[in-house]
Amino acid sequence: MDKDTDINKVARQHLEMEKFFTDGFAVKSEAPLHEPPKQKDNAAVAQIASELEKIADEVRRCRKCDLGSLRTNAVPGEGKPNARILFVGEGPGADEDAQGRPFVGRAGQLLDKIIKACGLKRSEVFIANILKCRPPENRDPRADEIINCFPYLQRQIEIINPEIIVALGAPAARTLLNTNKPIGQLRGQFHRYYAGLGRTPVKLMPTYHTAYLLRNYSPENRKRVWEDMKKVLAELGLPIPEQPRK
Ligand code: URA
Repeated sequence: MDKDTDINKVARQHLEMEKFFTDGFAVKSEAPLHEPPKQKDNAAVAQIASELEKIADEVRRCRKCDLGSLRTNAVPGEGKPNARILFVGEGPGADEDAQGRPFVGRAGQLLDKIIKACGLKRSEVFIANILKCRPPENRDPRADEIINCFPYLQRQIEIINPEIIVALGAPAARTLLNTNKPIGQLRGQFHRYYAGLGRTPVKLMPTYHTAYLLRNYSPENRKRVWEDMKKVLAELGLPIPEQPRK
């Protein structure tokens, strides 16, 4: 077992214990989630960007699992260094692997539409994945791959310090929340992502993955995702545009 795995396990055990005491046992007062946004000066934003670039470099050199030798490009993630919203998907597909950028294929085009429908630009959010390299034939991520790769995302979250994480689909939501519950049960309400010992938890909204939405493009599912995003906008105090037509 390597060092990252050990740290991951210890952190999870701690969080489980903390969750036990806060969820089921101790005083029920809601710990404040994320603090209100503070304006960051240019130097602070540049520092965040440089720390994110260091992680991206590590990801591009990573050979912790077999996916490292199968990829064309690693896909560390991209976006505004101090974004208020972080979208997290499952892992790169063929288009992402070819370009080294997250969500640039069909699922990405739908994510772009959702971001636009929210009145935001892609450059205003950060987009990353649980896995940084494409699994062959887009198969589901394996547990050992997640264990190896998740620490990169954990560090990105710590540095970006978003106010809200939107977890796209079951693998992202389950990994970030350390649960096996189905996405249909998790979506639609805020959960807490525990960012590390002594750090304020981050609000996390699970919703359907855009690839799932493309395969199941019903008015009901689109409405569900839109409802989830409206909650995110409301929580951030952002205006809610009228319901998108398509
Ligand atoms: N699906 C994902 O989960 N991530 C991507 O980057 C693209 C498609």
